[in-house]
Amino acid sequence: MTLQAPASVASDRTFSDRLAAARDGLAARDADALLLGIGSDLRYLTGYAAHPTERLTLLVLPSHGTPALIAPRLEALAAAASPAGVAGDVEVVAWDETDDPATVVAQRLRTALGEAPAGRLLVDRGLWGMHVLALQRELPGSAFGLATEVTRELRIVKGADEIERLRAAAHAADRVIDQVTHGPLVGRTEADVSREIGERLVAEGHQVAAFAIVASGPNSASPHHAASRRVIQPGEPIVLDIGGTLDGYCSDITRTVWVTGGIAANAPSDEFLTVYELVRAANAAATAAVRPDAACEGLDELARRIIRDGGYGDAFIHRLGHGIGLDGHEDPYLVADSAEALGPGMAFSIEPGIYLDGRFGVRIEDIVVCGAGGPDVLNEAPRELLVVDG
Ligand code: ZN
Ligand code: ZN
Ligand code: ZN
Repeated sequence: MTLQAPASVASDRTFSDRLAAARDGLAARDADALLLGIGSDLRYLTGYAAHPTERLTLLVLPSHGTPALIAPRLEALAAAASPAGVAGDVEVVAWDETDDPATVVAQRLRTALGEAPAGRLLVDRGLWGMHVLALQRELPGSAFGLATEVTRELRIVKGADEIERLRAAAHAADRVIDQVTHGPLVGRTEADVSREIGERLVAEGHQVAAFAIVASGPNSASPHHAASRRVIQPGEPIVLDIGGTLDGYCSDITRTVWVTGGIAANAPSDEFLTVYELVRAANAAATAAVRPDAACEGLDELARRIIRDGGYGDAFIHRLGHGIGLDGHEDPYLVADSAEALGPGMAFSIEPGIYLDGRFGVRIEDIVVCGAGGPDVLNEAPRELLVVDG
């Protein structure tokens, strides 16, 4: 497969550009304000990363007027130190412990939009229910929708800078796969290998090791198996699905290996080899078909047909892939009922799998960017079956 440079993706956007684009999105959607809590949409627009708590932090981006980052007093310095805060793109408004932050938000909206705004407000899909209810109480008459109406379009196409961060995260995860598959694996618990992977993800530059699925033997038939105390045996497969975040952007890679314990009789079975080859072929075919205007459902079907024709159609029990960026799972989703067309700069996983209940499973997952002329495969770890002695 040719690896192509991601030509003609959106150029790097400053936070100020992103805020302006979100404001354009509001106008296009006939909406009056975006209300974003702590989360990836807020990070995308302002660079402000914080942990959600019961105290409300909310970006109030009205269709006109200065955007406000409304934050609890004790978080105000951190909010002001965010890139958009430092650049003066947002005004930080602190509320005190005895204030009702929903009132502060409503007041801010009235100032920007005029008395008693009864417009359409788009709220963060991850905003806690208690905050949404408080905002609805303070803003009766306003219609509420989801901020993804605006942010989805912005985030689904990655800029060149975002793609390079995804690539750096992918390469770090590749190195961890390489390190851990050198063994030893046999005789250790899944949980022990999972812990090692988490440490290595951090050692290779991730700030957060988000997950490290180690699914051995029959456990490999469960796609999201939680690493357990099961001891890895010679003569079985292991599905390793690992990832985290590096500079805010996510990694996510799956490789399936076979461990022999150094005994020739423990070589992979013919059926395992057949299944592995089907998954590898499905991964390769779907990846090669990545190009602008390819439909998400078309890629899913391409991979699925290979597995179905091989006789394992019922065992491919999940969609082909998911978008990736600031969130580990985001738009676009490569799923059977999605006619959405790929475009340059979209980033997503391609992860076909076959799962035989009670026996074994195989999954091979890469992160791929849709380039102007074809796929830009971010992961470089080999996809041929790796048979590990130890
Ligand atoms: Zn998954
Ligand atoms: Zn994964
Ligand atoms: Zn994935």
